[in-house]
Amino acid sequence: MNGIQTPDWQTPDWQKWTWQMRHRVHSLESLQQYINPTADEMAAIEATQGIFRWNITPYYASLMDADDTTCPIRRQVVPQMSEMQPDIVGVVDPLEEVAHSPVKNLIHNYTDRVAFCVTAECAIYCRYCLRKRMVGDAEQFMNKAELQEAIDYIAAHPEIKDVLLTGGDPLTFNEKNLEWIISRLRAIPHVGVIRLGSRLPVTLPYRVTDALCEMLSRYHPIWVNTHFNHPKELTQPAADAIDRLLRAGVPVGNQTVLLRGINDNVQVMQALLEGLVKMRVRPYYLYQAQLIGGTASFRTSIEKGLEIMQALQGRLTGFAIPKYVLDTPYGKVPLDRSYILGRSGDHVVMRSYQGPLWAEPNPLSAGESTTYALPEIEMPEGTKTIPTGAATFVPLPVV
Ligand code: SF4
Repeated sequence: MNGIQTPDWQTPDWQKWTWQMRHRVHSLESLQQYINPTADEMAAIEATQGIFRWNITPYYASLMDADDTTCPIRRQVVPQMSEMQPDIVGVVDPLEEVAHSPVKNLIHNYTDRVAFCVTAECAIYCRYCLRKRMVGDAEQFMNKAELQEAIDYIAAHPEIKDVLLTGGDPLTFNEKNLEWIISRLRAIPHVGVIRLGSRLPVTLPYRVTDALCEMLSRYHPIWVNTHFNHPKELTQPAADAIDRLLRAGVPVGNQTVLLRGINDNVQVMQALLEGLVKMRVRPYYLYQAQLIGGTASFRTSIEKGLEIMQALQGRLTGFAIPKYVLDTPYGKVPLDRSYILGRSGDHVVMRSYQGPLWAEPNPLSAGESTTYALPEIEMPEGTKTIPTGAATFVPLPVV
C-alpha cells in the first residue's frame, strides 16, 4: 500500500459486521486510508452528493488497488464524474418498478412472485445500481406498518408463491428484524420459497454469522441470491460465508451484471464463473446493465455480451454458464437468437414473454470492438421502448 496510511484492518473488530457497518468509508479522509483518490474521484464525491450516496465497507475497500484507477473493485464503488454526464438513454426507473408496486416497495410484476424491497440500506452503493432511485434514500426506508402492509398484500394474494426479499440489502437488518419479516411470510400457507437477494456475502462476508444461518435454517426453503462481479471478490472470507450458508441448507446462486471495463472480457468472466463453482455457488444470471441515468460508462453493447456467452460455451461445464438476460418492463428476456430479432440502429429488438416486442436502447459504444454482429432490421410497428428524454438523474441539455 504505497503511501497509504495504516488501514483499519489492524483492529481486532475487523470481522464484526456491525463494526464494519459503523466504520464504512464515506469521507475523503477515510477513503485515503485505502487508495490515492484521483482528482476526478474527489470531484465526483462532491458532485454526486444528494444524487447517489456512497459508502464502502472497510472490508471491500481493502480489496481496492491503491493506485490503479481501472481496479474493478474501485470502479464499482468510488464515485466518478462520468455519473454526472447527461445520459441520453438513461432513466430513473427503466423497469417501471414503481408502476408495478401495489403497495410501497413491493414489486408485483410476475403473477407468482414479488420483489419485496424491505430496506433502502446497502453496505456499499454500487455506482451502476438498478435501484439508484431508492437505495440510500431516507424516504424509502420501511417502517413496521409499511412492512406489515406489504406482508398483508402477499397474504391476500394466493397466487404469490415466491417472495424475494431485496432492497437495498435485507441482510443489513439484524437477526431480530429479519426474523420478524421471515416468520410472518413463512406463516402464509401459499408462500413456498423465500429468497434473499443480498450482496453482503461479497461486500461484507462477516455478516453471514452462525446466528444468522441458524435463524434462516428454521424457515426453509430459504435461498440466497448474491452478486459477485469479478474474480477479485472471490476471497477466503467470502468463501467462508458461502460455506456457512450452504451448511445451513441454504442454496446460493449468483447474478452478475455485465460491466464495461470490469468483467466484459472472456478471461475475466471465465475466471469468475470457475471461482464461483469452486465455492459451490451456481451462476444463474448474467444481466445486461440497465439504463439507469448516469451509468452509461458501465454499459456494453448487447453484441459484446453475446460474444462472451458464445466464447464460454465449451470452455465451462453447463451449470457454470449463466443465462444472459435483460430485464424489461415486460419481464426478463433471455438474450439469445430465439428472442432477439436484430439491431435497428441504436436499438436491439426482441420478443418479450408477455407478448409485446421490446426495443432496448443500446447504441454501439465508440471504441468497443466485438466480433458478434446482429442482423440489421427495420423497427417493427408497435414495438415498445423507453422514451428517450424520460426522467433521469442529471438533466439532459436543452436542444
Ligand atoms: S448492493 Fe445491490 S441494491 Fe445495493 S447498491 Fe449494490 S446493486 Fe444496488
